[in-house]
Amino acid sequence: MSGPNRMISAFVREFVIPLVLFLLLRSLLSGVFSRRNQPAAPPPAPSGGTLHKDPICGTYVSADSAIALTVKGEQVYFCSRECWDKYHEGSRP
Ligand SMILES: [Zn+2]
Repeated sequence: MSGPNRMISAFVREFVIPLVLFLLLRSLLSGVFSRRNQPAAPPPAPSGGTLHKDPICGTYVSADSAIALTVKGEQVYFCSRECWDKYHEGSRP
């Protein structure tokens, strides 16, 4: 009478418990590190104005804080200089 039950308990002991401990430890560690590495910059608050979609990363940015660019008579807005650069890289021949 030591068939499947014993196999299951062995499986739990050898695999499930270490896995759970590992995940628990990892979430504890990542919690500590993410708190430590959190940037001091405040989150981008919507400070009024119309929101425009950044065509590179898809973030919505307000016209005040965005980097604006006029392309063929249309205003294009970017959340950051990085996206602005990427846009120009993409349009380059
Ligand atoms: Zn962006």
